[in-house]
Amino acid sequence: MVALSDGFIVMDPDFIGSPEHPTGAHDILADARGEMVMPIGCFLIRGERNVLVDLGYGPHDENGAGTMVGGNLLHELRVAGLRPEDIDVVALSHLHPDHVGWLGDSDGRPLFPSAQVYIGSGDWDHFVVSATAALPLAPHIRATLVDLFARGSITLMESDLAITPHVTRLSAPGHTPGHSIYAVHSGDDRAMLFGDAVYCAEQMTELDWAAATDVDRVLARETREKYVRQLEREGGLGLGCHFPALTAQRLLISRGD
Ligand SMILES: [Zn+2]
Repeated sequence: MVALSDGFIVMDPDFIGSPEHPTGAHDILADARGEMVMPIGCFLIRGERNVLVDLGYGPHDENGAGTMVGGNLLHELRVAGLRPEDIDVVALSHLHPDHVGWLGDSDGRPLFPSAQVYIGSGDWDHFVVSATAALPLAPHIRATLVDLFARGSITLMESDLAITPHVTRLSAPGHTPGHSIYAVHSGDDRAMLFGDAVYCAEQMTELDWAAATDVDRVLARETREKYVRQLEREGGLGLGCHFPALTAQRLLISRGD
């Protein structure tokens, strides 16, 4: 598996924390300028079918403000030796703008023409059907999704699903209604790609920390606890789309004596 970064987000100081400690993550992760800068991660899993988990923010600079900037994904893919048409599966964690940016061009044409696109059905309902999401789809991304759906190139997932022999979707609602975690396994090795269910390693132990964009904070916490406990029990690495430097983390549990 290869981690690719499409760009970066400068997150507000109170983006990740608890009501009692709203700047919890910022206080630990801020750089020398006092900014919490997180990557926009995507993950390539090569195999008989090449899988790309998430599609970054796309070639944009949000409001020209330099606080959310994408643009690197296709270059990073090229460095990895692949063209967009070599991707067979696009597995989306959810439909927020920093995860679907390279889905289509400005005319709504798919940029990964050979890929079957996997989306949690709860996100399809929330972002595409009811279109009431607080962070809505950009019009060209919505147009791309509608086009892909008409072609039969979208698979909506209600529950857990083995997508390839090495990649399994785990239903992980809360951050968004149809959010997905992807478990990647090879032999005895396993990694859990958290998407935005977990934003940083500290949130694997600070389970009460919520993200400002969690659609349902209570459900997001339940989901976080469920999968962090699973990692504790079964071992393996955890890695979210915005973990600093896209470095996977392992939970080392001190059980006491
Ligand atoms: Zn995100």
